[in-house]
Amino acid sequence: MAIATINPTTGATEKTFAAHDAQEIERRVAAAASAHRELAATTFAQRADWIRAAADLLGEDADALARTMTLEMGKPIAQSRAEIEKCQAALRFYAENAESFLAPEELEDPSVASGASRAGARYQSLGAILAVMPWNFPLWQVIRFAAPALMAGNVGLLKHASNVPQTALYLDDLFARAGFPRGAFQTLLVGSDAIEDLIADERIAAVTLTGSEGAGKAVAAAAAGQIKKSVLELGGSDPFIIMPSADLDKAVETAVTARVQNNGQSCIAAKRFIVHADVYDAFTEKFVAALAELTVGDPLDDGTDVGPIALQSGLEELEELVEDATARGASVLLGGDRGAVADAGEGWFYPVTVLADIPEEARIVQEETFGPVAALYRAEDREDALRIANQTEFGLSSSVWTADEEEIEFFADGIEAGGVFVNGMTASTPHLPFGGIKRSGYGRELAAAGIREFCNLKTVWVA
Ligand code: NDP
Repeated sequence: MAIATINPTTGATEKTFAAHDAQEIERRVAAAASAHRELAATTFAQRADWIRAAADLLGEDADALARTMTLEMGKPIAQSRAEIEKCQAALRFYAENAESFLAPEELEDPSVASGASRAGARYQSLGAILAVMPWNFPLWQVIRFAAPALMAGNVGLLKHASNVPQTALYLDDLFARAGFPRGAFQTLLVGSDAIEDLIADERIAAVTLTGSEGAGKAVAAAAAGQIKKSVLELGGSDPFIIMPSADLDKAVETAVTARVQNNGQSCIAAKRFIVHADVYDAFTEKFVAALAELTVGDPLDDGTDVGPIALQSGLEELEELVEDATARGASVLLGGDRGAVADAGEGWFYPVTVLADIPEEARIVQEETFGPVAALYRAEDREDALRIANQTEFGLSSSVWTADEEEIEFFADGIEAGGVFVNGMTASTPHLPFGGIKRSGYGRELAAAGIREFCNLKTVWVA
């Protein structure tokens, strides 16, 4: 894949970039290794000052940065601005909390541990962490890795998605501008074919990836071959379950946002709407009506709700999934035909679409829809709702709508996913761990769990 900004709103190539050559990659990896020696010797307070400065810089740069993000991947401009604010908050959160998350643990009575006089464990940074990141939240995906990594004393090497090079280059000097030693956080402008060699480099300690299952498998295999730690945050096909006691209007309003946020291209977007038979017709009617009101168009226009799909290949995959479902008998309640958005622009637009009566053998039952396509399923009772929720191979997050306490526990226990959000939509926040099970990946980002993933928890025992 060429490293280039191709505007998904127009399909036009705005700017192309040459990949870093072997010499430049070597220079950057060497700089990372030397920056780690420097950073590991700094205090939490010093790193927190630099992280807060990075948050301030994001605020100063917000207007231009938001435009760059929208230009490169097509999200509505208000959502680019909101993403920048979320990143500022996450940076400040880790500046505030990293030291307590990584506080040394000492046994109160060390004698129980083979008669020690002193015993406990302390967290130490690992070194240079390679971050392979996607384009869908081009700032947030990176910052939610970088903030805890840098606060822990690790250094970062970013291999960003090839279609967001300008955002990647912005991130290349953000942390140096904030005061961090040069080399503490750098972008490598490389294609995915460079990743295996990078993981094999002894100066790279571990790797984290957010993206597709295919990319996850390749990175995990390369890391396993080197016995290096990896964290994977892959796709999701999150269920959004509506039970009869739910506040239907609130559920509908949230379902709309949960499906079309980020032009429908979010791993934690609600993708499968599982509705109890008693409220199926009422929910469907309101949901389709609300989605039909949305404006698909130019993401730089503040009145746009849904912009284009970020990649032409993504548009084609989405179209194939819908065509496969309808060819097998699914009904189209809204959209489903690109002709409906022909006047939105030259780019990769897809209409907001709702499918129902989906047969079990349709690909959409198992595969992730990365775009504004909602799949409706009717459930006979709560057991049936849980069965449908769990019938995917993904296990990222979920949302359940009910006023019944017992039902809350039933779904919170039973859903096979890394998260269950009740009467609200799934959202990542630095205060809570984030990640999946099954084919959605492993390991956790954010909160205390996230910062500890790339630390050595070293036991120290003194006789
Ligand atoms: P990819 O997984 O291909 O891209 C994500 C990152 O991984 C990019 O930096 C990419 O680099 C890199 N990458 C891709 N293949 C490899 C590989 N074999 N080895 C190492 N790194 C690799 O996602 P796409 O952008 O192509 O999107 C495809 C699908 O992935 C989506 O439809 C969606 O299902 C899922 N996805 C999930 C995301 C999430 O948030 N969990 C985010 C984005 C996508 P490069 O750009 O150079 O190929």
